[in-house]
Amino acid sequence: QEQQEEGIRPHRFADYIGQKDLKDVLEIAIKAAQSRSEVLDHLLLYGPPGLGKTTMAMILASEMGVNYKITSLFIDEIHRLSRMTEEILYPAMEDYRLDITVGKGSSARIRSIPLSKFTLVGATTRVGALTSPLRDRFGLVQKLRFYEVEEMTQIIQRTAQLLQTPMTIDGATEIARRSRGTPRIGNRLLRRVRD
Ligand code: ADP
Repeated sequence: QEQQEEGIRPHRFADYIGQKDLKDVLEIAIKAAQSRSEVLDHLLLYGPPGLGKTTMAMILASEMGVNYKITSLFIDEIHRLSRMTEEILYPAMEDYRLDITVGKGSSARIRSIPLSKFTLVGATTRVGALTSPLRDRFGLVQKLRFYEVEEMTQIIQRTAQLLQTPMTIDGATEIARRSRGTPRIGNRLLRRVRD
């Protein structure tokens, strides 16, 4: 399943169908960050599974990477982080440093390690489950929505092409209508129909 998804995952903004609001916001943010030679603000993506959060995180890394050497970190299901990990993330996100305790007991010291600037992309299906200190540290918080039948039809046609499966528009529309607005479901259905 994982491997099958990799082959059809879009790698460029131009191939990422739909989610216009999300793409508009990100395109402005990317251009602004690049024109100031800054890293993109930390980004939190939320919405039901299979809508394209991981895909967008990977696209961002490659779109930003064209002109700038930028490190980005992607954390999936970010609402599941432990308290301790979360607290390590706060100074990393805000001041680009890691505060690490070295040693034990009375000889314990906090070591502060500077980090290169980076963009953290968090993805979650449950934005309400994030603690507010964590959520507040994301400069961009964006919701992904279910896809319209027309958008799903385009996604199915694109996948069919990649799978070298001839498909009429009517056929693609029929699959799109049964995909519950979710690319992962549509692509899976397409593979079954192909069989
Ligand atoms: P999530 O991280 O939200 O669970 P993914 O990013 O893994 O979802 O997307 C699931 C699959 O759906 C991907 O492998 C990709 O092929 C397809 N997909 C998702 N969003 C799009 C899109 N906007 N355009 C085309 N294909 C998409």
